[in-house]
Amino acid sequence: MKKIDLISGLNKRELIELDACTRCRKCVEWCPIVSTTGKYDNTPMDKIKSYRSFIQNTHGLRGRLLGSRIDERKLEEFAYNLYDCTSCGRCGVVCPVGIHCQELWVDVRAIMRKLGYGPQDKVDVALHIMEKVHNPFDLPIEKRNEWIPEDLLVQEKADLAFFVGCELAYRAKPMAVGAVRLLQSSETPYTLLDDEWCCGFPLYILGERGMEFIGEVKNNVKKLREKGVKEVTTYCPCCLNVMKRGWPEVIEVPFKISHIFQILSEKIKAGRLKFTKSFDGKVTYHDPCYLSRGWKEGENIIEEPRRIINSIPGADLVEMEHNKKLSLCPGSGGGLRRINLPLSHKMSVPVLKEADATGAEVLLTACPAVYERLKMTVEEGIYAPKVEIMDLLQFASNHL
Ligand code: SF4
Ligand code: SF4
Repeated sequence: MKKIDLISGLNKRELIELDACTRCRKCVEWCPIVSTTGKYDNTPMDKIKSYRSFIQNTHGLRGRLLGSRIDERKLEEFAYNLYDCTSCGRCGVVCPVGIHCQELWVDVRAIMRKLGYGPQDKVDVALHIMEKVHNPFDLPIEKRNEWIPEDLLVQEKADLAFFVGCELAYRAKPMAVGAVRLLQSSETPYTLLDDEWCCGFPLYILGERGMEFIGEVKNNVKKLREKGVKEVTTYCPCCLNVMKRGWPEVIEVPFKISHIFQILSEKIKAGRLKFTKSFDGKVTYHDPCYLSRGWKEGENIIEEPRRIINSIPGADLVEMEHNKKLSLCPGSGGGLRRINLPLSHKMSVPVLKEADATGAEVLLTACPAVYERLKMTVEEGIYAPKVEIMDLLQFASNHL
């Protein structure tokens, strides 16, 4: 009988989590996949129950005495359902016993990937693209630095490096430009890698932790180490997530990792970053999943972006109905765009509707995946919002 190992790769906390679910249904109420699909047989709660039962049948006493008794058709169905999750983390915020599916399912995906269950053909495509061009978009490496404006003051060496990430470098370029203009304006010296590679997030989140993921991480850490930086900051929440969580699994990371909001917020507090041009109108802000629902309590980045917005003269910040730790997920994360694009499309509409309901003129985003997701929703005619979608740091840099 085929040996199926369903627990190697899960940490102690995750094994305890699988046993701790009280079936209170809180996660069912708050999961955006459930509310968008209306499918109540693919809830976080049910996935926990299914996986626990697979483990009991393979690793429990019965499994050990009688051999692995797993229904492989059910395991395959479970593995497909596992990828219908944006890793938004809302379930972890409301769960009374603190089960973090945001992390748990990513580690279970890695197990499914090793065993070959689920949509691995799509993960293979992502892997092959990454091997070729070190970005998930199949775009040429030589185009990676085309976002850099000619007048940018980049240091060859500095204590701080700005890690750009593929989304900002190739697609959401106004985000990258806005970010570095603000660093420059706050007189913060920084350096960039000439030949940055992908942070590895697109592979990590899909469960691929093999040599290609390891190679992307090691290459970046080696080049940053050679630059002698003491701190690496990034704007992309997905880069931040894997740099904090996935990179230390591969290699010792000899520098501090931060989000650029943390740096800019401190500069504002110290009076080193000021906005002089006013915006007289209402703006609203979308909290990205990996900033407002981080991997550890106390590492959430919620107040910093609000400090930046509130420093712009005249900008009147109005909150969306769901904000901060309970902000809506627009379906851009967790690899969902690659695995189930129609579902990702549908999930973006409620975010735009909530933004419209605030009466704001501008919806400020702070995640390239969200920015691209919402822009695509508008461009493809899926929904026509009244609100203008703009990146927060691009907006802020327009008001220096
Ligand atoms: S992380 Fe988000 S999408 Fe995934 S199960 Fe939890 S609430 Fe649903
Ligand atoms: S919220 Fe937590 S305890 Fe309640 S059903 Fe969901 S996973 Fe289980």
